[in-house]
Amino acid sequence: MTTAISGLIEAARQGNWLPLTEEAKGAPGKHWAESAQCTNQDINLFVPPGDGPREDANSVKRKLGFSLNRPRNLCASCPLAVASRCLVESLKNDDEFGIRGGLLASERSELRHAWQRRASEESVERALQGCSEALSKRERSAAIARFATDPSLDATAVARGLGVTHEYLLKLARRYRKSQTAQTSLRIGAGVA
Ligand code: SF4
Repeated sequence: MTTAISGLIEAARQGNWLPLTEEAKGAPGKHWAESAQCTNQDINLFVPPGDGPREDANSVKRKLGFSLNRPRNLCASCPLAVASRCLVESLKNDDEFGIRGGLLASERSELRHAWQRRASEESVERALQGCSEALSKRERSAAIARFATDPSLDATAVARGLGVTHEYLLKLARRYRKSQTAQTSLRIGAGVA
């Protein structure tokens, strides 16, 4: 792939997610896909038959051949910020299928796993300070755990950083504290605390 997003993907593959996540911020809000090239296109174009997370990307490309040109050309002409947001959203949602950000599901698989393993303290800190961050599940859990146990943190800023409502954040914090209490009781019951 030789599109503008290639360099961002390559950096992410090497563990530097910042170029991709920063570029994605150029397509903010809920309506980020309005200027996407796939808007009003047949969705089936972006879910090629035989492509999936456990397939070998080269075999998929060989089998599907020219039929991939159309969706991939559309992705290549998508505004860079939109394509980056598209890819980041697919990673956040752990989307296993479909072409996203120009990558086949089979090409994206490794990146998806790397995203889930990602645990950047800096990203967690920025989210806790109220910066809207694209967090992996692990980072999101860490941010919720910090909020639930640190009364000095500002709920409004944290809710903004996590992209949730104030009420939902408080619910997540309660759920976290409840799970911790349950785990502690279990440990005491088992005589290991
Ligand atoms: S990069 Fe994403 S938003 Fe853009 S055309 Fe491709 S699938 Fe659609």
